[in-house]
Amino acid sequence: RLSKRLEWIAQEVPKGSRLADIGSDHALLPSYLAQQGIITSGVAGEVNAGPYEAASRQVRAAGLKERIEVRLGDGLAVLAPGEVDVITIAGMGGALIASILEAGQEKLAGVSRLVLQPNVAEDAVRRWLLAHGWELVSERILEEDGKIYEILTAVSSAQAEETGTRAGERLYEPLSLAEGITLDREELQKFGPHLVREAPTVWQAKWRLELDKLEHVCMQMSRSDTEAARLREQEFRLEMKRIEEVL
Ligand code: SAM
Repeated sequence: RLSKRLEWIAQEVPKGSRLADIGSDHALLPSYLAQQGIITSGVAGEVNAGPYEAASRQVRAAGLKERIEVRLGDGLAVLAPGEVDVITIAGMGGALIASILEAGQEKLAGVSRLVLQPNVAEDAVRRWLLAHGWELVSERILEEDGKIYEILTAVSSAQAEETGTRAGERLYEPLSLAEGITLDREELQKFGPHLVREAPTVWQAKWRLELDKLEHVCMQMSRSDTEAARLREQEFRLEMKRIEEVL
C-alpha cells in the first residue's frame, strides 16, 4: 500500500504517461503507477547507491523490469531528451528540487507535466516554475502522520496553451483578500496562489503551526537583551501579523 502522500502524487499522473520519478528511493511510486496500468513506462532515478539498490530490488521483486528502468545518476542527467512526458520529484527540499530542474533544463523539452512535492521551501519551487514559463495548474495539501505536504503540479506553457489553462503572470498579480490586505508576488509564492484562494483546512492548519513556531522563537528572543534580537523579534512579529491577516 502506498502512503496517502504518494497516492495523492500518483493521482496527478495522467493515464498513458511515460514517467520519470527522480529521487525515487524504493521506486514505490513508479511501481504502483505501472501496476495500476497508469504509466506505459517509467524511469526511477537515484543519485545514491543505497536507494538505487533498493529501487532495483523493488522493481525486480514486483516483476516490473520490462516497464521500469532504474538508473543511477544526478537529477535529470539520467534521462535522454524527449524520453518522458511526466516528471515527479518528491520528498526533498524545494531548493534541491529547483536546482535539479535548473541543472536539467535541456531534458525538459517535450516534458508536458511536472508533479513536485517539496518537504520545505515550496516558494523556491514556485519561483523556479514561474521564471521558466511553467504553469502552476494545481496545488494540493494533505496531512499524514502529523506532517503536512504540498503537491504542486505544473504544465509546460505549450500544454497550457493547448488546454486553455494559460494564466502566466496573472496567477501572481497582486491579490486583494480584504480591505487593505493585498498580497504581492513574493507572498503569493510563499502561501501558494491557488491555496490562498481556496484556503483549505489543512493549509490553514499549516500556517497556524507556523504562527506557533514564530511565537516560540519570539519568546526566546525576548529573553535576550541585544539590539539584534530585538530587531529580529520585531521582524517576526510583523511576519506573524501578516500571516494572521491572510488566514
Ligand atoms: N521520492 C520518494 C518519496 O517521495 O517517498 C523518496 C524521497 S527520499 C526522502 C529523497 C531521495 O532523493 C533520496 O533517496 C535521495 O537519494 C534522492 N536524491 C537526492 N538528491 C538527488 C538528486 N540530485 N538526484 C537524484 N536523486 C536524489
